[in-house]
Amino acid sequence: MTTDIASIALPGGERIAKLGQGTWEMGERHASTQRRADEIAALREGVALGMTLIDTAEMYGDGATESLVGEALDGLREDVFLVSKVYPHNASRRGVERACEASLKRLGTDRLDLYLLHWRGGVPLEETVAGFEALVRAGKIRYWGVSNFDTEDMEELFAIPGGEACAMNQVLYNVARRGPEFDLLPWSAQQGVPVMAYSPVDHARLPRRSPLDDIAASHGVSVYQVALAWVLREPGVCAIPKAGRIEHVRDNRAALDLVLSAQDHAALDAYFKPPRAKRALEML
Ligand code: NAP
Repeated sequence: MTTDIASIALPGGERIAKLGQGTWEMGERHASTQRRADEIAALREGVALGMTLIDTAEMYGDGATESLVGEALDGLREDVFLVSKVYPHNASRRGVERACEASLKRLGTDRLDLYLLHWRGGVPLEETVAGFEALVRAGKIRYWGVSNFDTEDMEELFAIPGGEACAMNQVLYNVARRGPEFDLLPWSAQQGVPVMAYSPVDHARLPRRSPLDDIAASHGVSVYQVALAWVLREPGVCAIPKAGRIEHVRDNRAALDLVLSAQDHAALDAYFKPPRAKRALEML
């Protein structure tokens, strides 16, 4: 396996790894020293395997996760496309600047590659966009985007001045939660906004008995790998599975090379039905 990895384009043309790594629930304060070491080793292995897109947030572990990511990226920062997220209640014009500074400090870096509004809150979008744009001008972030925005939120964002500079929408999307296929994925493709699929293996809560089992057995892989390969089939979508164990990271990387057959897709569509009508965007 090489570190050459499939990529997707940001609106400006820069390419990022199609398969990255999530960090939610990593580095939590009550975790054992062994678990912390495993998580750091897992992230570093993922980067070595080309999964250089790393997603974190100020929310995770109240900042403890960003500190762990900073430690894991020691000597690797330049190899990584680093994403963090601001709480909606910090997303005012000045609030994003303060929150960003705190994230940069915990992460031990001078810039984020992508900064996302974690979900929509009470602050007017105009203010958040102005704050993000100021951070871009100051060189603290390279791109900004949003998370948990449904189609109508994206339309609203694109209607405000500067809103169309949004470089990403990170949403819940996996084989068991296919709502975005009805309108959000087509809208995003049409507007050229890439989508980052979070919880791509449904937070390890995929159904216990489903066609995933037979498909996994027929390819000699795990159900997690089938679920990941399924998400990654979609152009314009990248995915950020979280794996705190090195063996899971290796399995996830291998999923990028797994090609599901038309028969596999038909079996999955029969069980995990594609949406026939609008479903409100789900959140974890
Ligand atoms: P996920 O990636 O779907 O699932 C993570 C779980 O699956 C962990 O328990 C992990 O176990 C297990 N796992 C991963 N790969 C595996 C494999 N190959 N074999 C067996 N088990 C495997 O769920 P997630 O953490 O909710 O989502 C991914 C990332 O998306 C998050 O970490 C976070 O960065 C982001 N996220 C964003 C939002 C948002 O609102 N924007 C919400 C949720 C998540 P181990 O850890 O033991 O390896």
